[in-house]
Amino acid sequence: MTSMNDNKYSGASEAELGFLKEIVRMLPAGLTVQDAHGELLLVNDAAAAQLGMDGSRPSPDLSPRREACRQALSAGQPVVTEEALHGGAARQVLLTTHRPVRLAGRELLISASSDITEQKNFEDQLFRSAYFDELTGLPSRRVIEHRANGLLSERSGGERFALAFLDVDNFKHINDYYGHAVGDALLVELSKRLGRDLRDSDMLSRISGDEFLLLLSPIQSQEEVAEFMQSTLERLTAPFFIDNSEVFASTSVGISLYPDHGRSFETLRQNADIAMYRIKNDGKGSAAFFDSSMEREALARMKIEQSLRLAILEKRFCCAFQSKVDIRTQAVKGIEALVRLRDDEGVIQAPGSFINLAGELGLIDELTHLVLAEIVKSIDLINETFDPEATISINVAAKQAGNPEFMRSFARALEETGFPQRFMIEVTEDAFVAKNHFQAEILPMFRKLGVGISIDDFGTGYSSLSALADITADEIKIDRSFITDIHKRPRSQGILRAIESLSEALGMTVIAEGLESYEELAYLQAATKIRYAQGYYFSRPIFLEELKLATPLSSESRASVASRPMQQNRQGYSRASGYRR
Ligand code: C2E
Ligand code: MG
Ligand code: MG
Repeated sequence: MTSMNDNKYSGASEAELGFLKEIVRMLPAGLTVQDAHGELLLVNDAAAAQLGMDGSRPSPDLSPRREACRQALSAGQPVVTEEALHGGAARQVLLTTHRPVRLAGRELLISASSDITEQKNFEDQLFRSAYFDELTGLPSRRVIEHRANGLLSERSGGERFALAFLDVDNFKHINDYYGHAVGDALLVELSKRLGRDLRDSDMLSRISGDEFLLLLSPIQSQEEVAEFMQSTLERLTAPFFIDNSEVFASTSVGISLYPDHGRSFETLRQNADIAMYRIKNDGKGSAAFFDSSMEREALARMKIEQSLRLAILEKRFCCAFQSKVDIRTQAVKGIEALVRLRDDEGVIQAPGSFINLAGELGLIDELTHLVLAEIVKSIDLINETFDPEATISINVAAKQAGNPEFMRSFARALEETGFPQRFMIEVTEDAFVAKNHFQAEILPMFRKLGVGISIDDFGTGYSSLSALADITADEIKIDRSFITDIHKRPRSQGILRAIESLSEALGMTVIAEGLESYEELAYLQAATKIRYAQGYYFSRPIFLEELKLATPLSSESRASVASRPMQQNRQGYSRASGYRR
């Protein structure tokens, strides 16, 4: 076959010409040829369909194409364009090259179009999933970041805008309680309520699970933003009706302002997050603007976080032991292991400064195993210092107690010590009343091993006295807040009597926590049947190793270390241990 390039049309036979015309007509790509005046000289079938000339679809708006053609002809250069000829379901996108040519002495324009609709649809789908959240249809984090960066680059210290970080309060509980379908529906409804009243120039984005970012731009003043956020939050307090349930939700919001609180998206987002964190800790459900004191707090928190991770990694933990004493005979009934952290500077830290954080960071399970390991390692010294029969209590956080996986591994570790019946686990009452498997499934596992169960800090949790009847425990420790100055506080005395008689009926041993003074002890002895107490009056938490180094013990002095009312001891231990409160 002769090619078009090699032959002039005039030289081709009639048959060849017909053959070529037929091929051009049937080409899958759209092809048109027009003269310098825009007069169409040739339109193949594909082009006729694309341009709506064959009646198969409505004629599209061809003015952009005409403009491209004009450009190509006047420049004498090919022009490549992407043409969206039809929208909606009939969407059609063409990639067209308009090429000016000189043929047989005439200026012509050949336009060839390939249909790239499918590829475009696929790209759009990819784009949507990269830039829009599937559940709520809101723009993703990338989009809002892009918008903010646009605003930041546009202006050199110019107009202000606000970035708000929103986090739904207790969303995990809502999910757990109502199920994920309701949780998802709630997020959709929430995003609708949040998005109401926004201007075209504002943007709401869902950046992860229950977190949203809101960009308000432009803004006039901080007061204006505060007012707007306030009315938005009020709108969120009305119940959501989802799947026949009335769901209540609140949201905590932290806000940063450009340029006051940062000059990059990342800084503004971080600072809004820091302000949000403050609201979460202050009781949730409201909004706060970032300020520099929050930044200092966040830095301090981060420092503690880092040093805690490092301390766990380097096993820089030790245990102090405090005895539970029979207040009549001074005999040691048991001891409680209280974990301590040796920080970067070698200072011993009490658990108040790190236990909750360890829980939040998911480090507490490891910590509890470390405590057990420490006890096992020191068991001979423990027996030497205290009574070899004394029970050994280990604290377990309520969150851990409700986690069957951890509790199973912990039970196994206790069994592997070879003396599981020496141990007690101390758990706060919340663990017993929470809707989890602690009472029904986890406790029996420990019972079987002979491990005792103690309710710690009783009276400070959410349960009522009547809940005690459903709790199966061996020991109940009355919180220090009831014991302090008990001899002077008739109301606490009444509560104490009630707990005491109920515990007695249920066969639980009662321990008074935080006994500090002779007067408190005298009251317990005279007015109650409580047999056991734990507190500075008898002994501060002590470190075995340092105790051994500081004062080699004779067998007589041993008993007194563990359970003697002691003024001098108090100081001795804090000096020997370096323990600071
Ligand atoms: P807790 O289990 O109720 O332990 C008693 C706390 O009261 C201890 O504080 C103890 O030092 C302190 N205490 C004892 N007698 C007195 C007293 O007479 N007066 C005063 N003011 N305080 C007294 P510590 O060691 O700072 O521990 C605080 C809490 O940290 C513990 O309360 C316990 O809930 C938690 N904790 C300690 N070790 C662990 C652990 O290994 N794991 C977990 N999950 N929590 C632990
Ligand atoms: Mg305890
Ligand atoms: Mg306690």
